[in-house]
Amino acid sequence: MSSDIPKERFNFIEEIINKDRENNKHDGRVHTRFPPEPNGYLHIGHAKSICLNFGIAEKYQGLCNLRFDDTNPEKEEVEYVESIQADIKWLGFDWGDRLYYASDYFSELYQLAVNLIEMGKAYVDDQSAEEISLGRGTPTRPGIESPFRNRSVDENLDLFKRMKDGEYQEGAKVLRAKIDMSSPNMHLRDPIMYRIRHTPHHRTGNAWCIYPTYDWAHGQSDAIEGITHSVCTLEFEVHRPLYEWFIEQLDLFPSKQYEFARLNIGFTIMSKRKLLELVQEKVVSGWDDPRMPTISGLRRRGYTPEAIRNFCDRVGVARRDGVIDVALLEFSIREDLNAKAPRRFGILDPLKVVITNYPEEKEEWLPAVNNPENPDAGTREIPFTRELYIERGDFMEDPPRKFFRLGPGREVRLKYGYIIKCEDYQKDPETGEVTTLLCTYDPQTKSGSDTSGKKVKGTLGWVSAKYTLDAQIRLYDRLFSSEDPAGHPEKDFKEFLNPNSLEIAQGKVEYSFKNARPWDFFQFERQGYFIIDQDSEPGALVFNRTVTLRDNWAKQQHK
Ligand code: ATP
Ligand code: MG
Repeated sequence: MSSDIPKERFNFIEEIINKDRENNKHDGRVHTRFPPEPNGYLHIGHAKSICLNFGIAEKYQGLCNLRFDDTNPEKEEVEYVESIQADIKWLGFDWGDRLYYASDYFSELYQLAVNLIEMGKAYVDDQSAEEISLGRGTPTRPGIESPFRNRSVDENLDLFKRMKDGEYQEGAKVLRAKIDMSSPNMHLRDPIMYRIRHTPHHRTGNAWCIYPTYDWAHGQSDAIEGITHSVCTLEFEVHRPLYEWFIEQLDLFPSKQYEFARLNIGFTIMSKRKLLELVQEKVVSGWDDPRMPTISGLRRRGYTPEAIRNFCDRVGVARRDGVIDVALLEFSIREDLNAKAPRRFGILDPLKVVITNYPEEKEEWLPAVNNPENPDAGTREIPFTRELYIERGDFMEDPPRKFFRLGPGREVRLKYGYIIKCEDYQKDPETGEVTTLLCTYDPQTKSGSDTSGKKVKGTLGWVSAKYTLDAQIRLYDRLFSSEDPAGHPEKDFKEFLNPNSLEIAQGKVEYSFKNARPWDFFQFERQGYFIIDQDSEPGALVFNRTVTLRDNWAKQQHK
């Protein structure tokens, strides 16, 4: 994959906006909104919608509102409301002073419903939920009219007020729009506008015991806010005629809805309900577990806002559903971190090396380049001492010819240090595990002033044993091992969890991490990109692996 993937100049929604502006529709004004339901944390699919809605507003010097669609009274909402705002800000977008809640409009919506009743276009129905559902019919069979459909306006006004005043139990009555029980569009078969719920709401408390349905609240909220282009995902396409019907009857601001395809990513699930299941069943450590596709999870994993925004840009805006290769997301973060991440040495599986001809007390502080992609990043000094650690996988007792790392009698360069030769090695007599390599160094081969003329094929990472810091290194991998974990209706999606999605290594990292703090990010040379976790403390470093340097999954598939 290369970075010159063509970017569309205008997506199809922007093309519609361009036309609208040519025709001076809404005086050329562009006003969008992002309308999350505060019933979970935002995920990367929401990031797509955020980038689109806020991006359009930026592009056309318009406005984008944040509106919480909080029409369902729920307990946990406050935590979600806060996390959603934090995530949008972190992505780099700003709703200014336009933070709204659908619940702000409860009174207005109630009044609009009364207007509809007065026009003879809404009625109170006493049927049970089951009767209503049965009466709806099917896509091929028309529905039947409710026996309560032809109540008088006065009776409806009285009953609706009494619903609001709390005279009835949940389920006893609903308010329905009076449209057409034989419409081929099921959403026009007298949809429900209000339900009775004797549940306090996180913002309106006990003020209401009737709550508007999403279908009733959503379009009217757009109209109240003067939203010109109401962008949503494809599943709402079939609801559009209903939204337009309400607006027409009530003669409200003519917001227009446009639908685009949901973002789906391979090896990932993107439903808040399923993500909540993972949290509640403690399959993951929380909404911000670094394996979660949530924005907070990606952040903790080490993703940057720039990488996520670039990813959303590359994905484009589609009209038909599809699945995006997760490799594209991983590519976006590698690309961003390659430019930004300081290089460091970190050893995930340490093997001790003793340089037998290096004096015991001697130490040299050698300059190491911080980021070859960024000359301004400068250098740091790393200590070379008699005892070091290298990666266990960089040594083989009986290596094949093309193994350009260490083996008995073989030579490699320690990056920024010396060329060393493996003279001998020690093993644990019981386990047979190699415990120590005994090597010699050539003093003439010091990096930067090598006068030996020696050439070696391999260069290894290393840290000084005397100065190393211990670290817990959390090696994250994809949470699912199936490309479409939710695509097997006969099976629970949790059967497709990747059993190796988290491995914990006890590693050794270089001394310069002494002052590192949570959220600092790095490349461990030859290993991948890592971020210091929020659990990390001085003396007990914790790293999360963001992503490996290369796409290991692609390699596996092509083997
Ligand atoms: P989920 O199915 O994950 O619960 P949702 O649609 O119920 O998502 P909302 O809070 O209602 O979640 O979504 C807020 C906005 O984000 C909506 O406009 C919705 O269309 C959009 N959105 C949700 N999921 C995606 C996705 N996968 N790709 C693009 N946009 C999305
Ligand atoms: Mg929704």
